[in-house]
Amino acid sequence: MRASVEGVEIDTRHWIAGERVTSDRRFASVSPIDEAPIAELSAGGGAEIDRAVSAARDAFRTWRNTSPAERARYLHRIADIVESRVEQLAVVETRDNGSLLRSHRRGVMPRVAMNFRFFADWLLQLDHPDFDVRGHRNHVSYDPSGVAAIITPWNAPLMLGTWRIAPALAAGCTVVYKPPEWAPLTASLLADISAEAGLPAGVFNVVQGLGREAGAALAAHPGIARMSFTGSVPTARSIARAAGENLVPLSFELGGKSPFIVFADCDFELAVNTAIGQFDNAGQVCLAGTRLLVEDRLRDRFVEAFIEKAKKIRQGDPRDETVDIGPQISRPHFERIDGFVQRARAAGMQPVLGGGPNTDLGGLYYQPTLFLDPAAGSEILRDEVFGPVLCLQSFKTESEAVAMANDTEYGLAAVVMTGDKARAERVTAAVDAGLVWNNCFFVRDLRQAFGGNGKSGIGREGGTWSFDFYCNVKNSVFAPNGWRE
Ligand code: NAD
Repeated sequence: MRASVEGVEIDTRHWIAGERVTSDRRFASVSPIDEAPIAELSAGGGAEIDRAVSAARDAFRTWRNTSPAERARYLHRIADIVESRVEQLAVVETRDNGSLLRSHRRGVMPRVAMNFRFFADWLLQLDHPDFDVRGHRNHVSYDPSGVAAIITPWNAPLMLGTWRIAPALAAGCTVVYKPPEWAPLTASLLADISAEAGLPAGVFNVVQGLGREAGAALAAHPGIARMSFTGSVPTARSIARAAGENLVPLSFELGGKSPFIVFADCDFELAVNTAIGQFDNAGQVCLAGTRLLVEDRLRDRFVEAFIEKAKKIRQGDPRDETVDIGPQISRPHFERIDGFVQRARAAGMQPVLGGGPNTDLGGLYYQPTLFLDPAAGSEILRDEVFGPVLCLQSFKTESEAVAMANDTEYGLAAVVMTGDKARAERVTAAVDAGLVWNNCFFVRDLRQAFGGNGKSGIGREGGTWSFDFYCNVKNSVFAPNGWRE
């Protein structure tokens, strides 16, 4: 089973124990750009997951004993190949998930390579200094835990997948990866890359398929040692139930409804431009500050400038380098977004920007949309839309702003725009979020702690936090005597 996408040949079968494996059942990948089917893939289920977990368990016996330096070499080789294929990976990903080609070329695919390099290098300096406990030497080591199951979504498929695959492999785990069915193709290319890098058979496995089939079977498998999931809250609940049965440790990176707080003393241009950036990737960004909270004396000026700027956003084919926003990922997701907008309208909230499909472009293109002052407790203000839909509310005082920011079940990110350093520090300390950006957005680095509070997730990733999750951390104590030399 093969597909040719933008001139790139892709083997669309599973990758298990270093071999391509096919299933009787198939599913199609449909491009968001024009809703054309672009590939048929093997649809795995319980049998394929069983086979992949068993291959990963076999491979673990050897992989766990490789030295950190050896594993780091494999990861750097993978990074080298990714770097040499940035263009291929970028064009396939754009066709598959509709995100901007220019972002894939310049930001996302280089970051995929960086995911491997970073965790390879971090592994080599992973060290917890020994200390003395009443004359005994205390030592902490990071032992590989077993098979890591990794399930990720479609909004940045290869970047989000490799952000977990790389530390898991570095930690000495073997991996079974279930890519997102709405954008599965670059995972198949990653399987080729891992083979070309010489990764031993069974260390990295890919089972393609639907979430409720392949994903559910993986989460429930008793042979996995770690479950890393990035996606939505409802799926997280069912994964937690399944993994809970086997007491498998979980890492969850989930959704958000992050506040974007604008004080009147801010750098106005910067605030407006950064707010416009919340429409990036057609709003399909977990971190997006979708609740704009603007100090009331700035509100009218801010709304006017925001709308003027938003009207200049170029929407269209994401392969065109001059385009700012592409389509939504799929027809069901597009309908879901429109459902939120139309229900808000029916409840009497009128958007001051957008408010429906982009009828000039048709297809899956949805207009950037802004609602002013949605009713307190309304669905559009409370739930993650995961589309280009923002809400704007205003506040009078700093404490009111903080209370509004924290009025959510989520707690992934927050953005604070102010010219007052002391205020920035107070508000940063008071907001309930895993990541806070002051006068900036999306300044990311793999050394940072990444993760959310509340319904936005469980655990942290990045740097040593990733190894804390994928490893069995072992504490050993050595008495000063008692050994016969
Ligand atoms: P989703 O939960 O529907 O799917 C995510 C993955 O889970 C897919 O691979 C899917 O096949 C799989 N899946 C679905 N049902 C499953 C089941 N029953 N058992 C096991 N696996 C199953 O989420 P989505 O709509 O693809 O992604 C959007 C969500 O992801 C948003 O909520 C977004 O905020 C979140 N997200 C979070 C982060 C983060 O780092 N916090 C990053 C990106 C996206």
